[in-house]
Amino acid sequence: MNIEELKRTIPEMFERIRRDVQKVLGQRRAGLSLGFVDMGMSPQGFVGGMFFSGGTMILMNTRALRVLLEDAVNRENPEIAEYYVYHVLMHEYIHSLGYLDERECREVTAYVTHELFPHNHPITIMADRGIGVYFPRFIYAPENIAFEPPRDGSIELVKGFDRGSTTYFT
Ligand SMILES: [Zn+2]
Repeated sequence: MNIEELKRTIPEMFERIRRDVQKVLGQRRAGLSLGFVDMGMSPQGFVGGMFFSGGTMILMNTRALRVLLEDAVNRENPEIAEYYVYHVLMHEYIHSLGYLDERECREVTAYVTHELFPHNHPITIMADRGIGVYFPRFIYAPENIAFEPPRDGSIELVKGFDRGSTTYFT
């Protein structure tokens, strides 16, 4: 699997996440769009995804996707990259349901994940302990990190994501 193939799986994965979250929390949100953008990576940590409060767009960091996929493939564990995408996307989606506080969002994400997956599943382990368990070379950004939202022009809007929504965050 390469980065383009991984990106193509994402709209369907998002639909699954919406069903999964609804099963557990009874909440669902429409009117979201997804964008890919290169938010870089640094030794101080990286941001896997973003949701703008009050906005309608979830962003995924393509640099992190590419680097983590490469890392997973090199360790002959490519499916861990898909688990990473599921985890990050669910985290950002749960933000979009109104859980804006970072700690609360992590707790709710972990709760939902435990209801859906066995306790020893990689997605559950990521939700409990962070992605560093699987990607020890890369540090996830601290929760209070200040991050400049990328400019709209650098965002690649994902086709087929949450059909019926064309709202664009500005
Ligand atoms: Zn968050």
